Amino acid sequence: MKLATIGVGNAGSKIIDRMLEFEEETGRNLCRHVMVINSARTDLAKPDYVPEDRRVLIGDTHQKAKGHGVGGDVAVGAEVAKHDIDEIRRTFDDIEIHEVDAILVAAGLGGGTGSGAGPVVIDELQKMYDEPVYGLGILPGKYEGGRPALNAARSLQSFVQKVDNLIAFDNDAWRSRGQTIEEGYEDMNRELAIRIVTLLAAGEIDETEVAENAMDSSDVMRTLDTSGISSIGYASTPIDREAEGLLDRFKNETTDPSEATDAAKIKGLVRRAVNSRLTLPCDVSSADRALVILSGPSEAIARKGVESARQWLEQEADTVEVLAGDDPRPNSDELAAVVLLSNVTETPRVDEIQDQAVDAQNKIQKLEDEREDDINDLITDDDNEIDPVI
Ligand code: GDP
Repeated sequence: MKLATIGVGNAGSKIIDRMLEFEEETGRNLCRHVMVINSARTDLAKPDYVPEDRRVLIGDTHQKAKGHGVGGDVAVGAEVAKHDIDEIRRTFDDIEIHEVDAILVAAGLGGGTGSGAGPVVIDELQKMYDEPVYGLGILPGKYEGGRPALNAARSLQSFVQKVDNLIAFDNDAWRSRGQTIEEGYEDMNRELAIRIVTLLAAGEIDETEVAENAMDSSDVMRTLDTSGISSIGYASTPIDREAEGLLDRFKNETTDPSEATDAAKIKGLVRRAVNSRLTLPCDVSSADRALVILSGPSEAIARKGVESARQWLEQEADTVEVLAGDDPRPNSDELAAVVLLSNVTETPRVDEIQDQAVDAQNKIQKLEDEREDDINDLITDDDNEIDPVI
């Protein structure tokens, strides 16, 4: 697929930056247009791969932001984006839309800029272009507390209503012990970038000769065309070409006695992708559609294995809408399986965030009421005998 990528807020921009890094490392060419949008000037300086002229500061003339961010306030994030909508629109004009198949907007949903400005940006993109707009949304960890959960619960609704599909990543599930939060984020961002790029870059090589069973961008887009929330599974295995005699062996695939083993390996890899940590843990059988891509040298992708993996996934996901194909990467030293579970409806973490958000909202309301009473008590005399001036 050819993609225009837009990171909104700090987390969104960092993810886009890691996607560009992984693309460069693996010789892919997915992100044809890149832009990051932020209300905090300091965060805009962070990316390593996003060109300087593709970084957009919003809210520098807005009284509540002034280039210093929106303080985790989702309403201010949205306000600032609306305030600067003309400038945002102008930067979109640069996107040569005939060059891309879709647009991806990445954001952390627990903060203020990504979660608030993200939906405003998406609204504008949907108005301007016919191409699908996908979201990549990071759900905050439970450990972050009530405010990020409330931001995320609200923003999730807006994202899902506005995008063609929201691919979700759950920080809670990916948190590992013994790391600082920043170290943890570095690892998570890398893992997410690998998954999203491996998935969306399939079908990107349409100019060159491609294998018969190659996955096409339109297959990925069809699977994403469900309007819901999606999760990605991934597993990879190194290929030692010489040790395995891979290239010679596959020249004569039909008569090779090791064919069955190779097919079993493929199926095993796909199972591992589905059964290991998903970007958003969910009940696989609640998926509406699914897709599996085997990415690596064509000789290493046993046809029978792909077909039996597809059949297995059809049962697991309990849907007939399962596509499977290859993403030929002749120079790759590994074979990767990436699985897209589209429109998953059983995700415990989303329910948890909503519970945490309702608690937080009630607590915030209670504190506001109490504070108002306390101020009133303080400034009025006991018998209410004194009147204010005006
Ligand atoms: P914003 O700039 O106001 O949108 O806020 P941030 O992007 O800094 O943070 C929003 C949320 O994103 C936080 O509550 C975290 O849950 C998450 N987050 C922040 N940075 C990262 C990161 O580098 N990786 C991941 N996975 N999540 C992050």
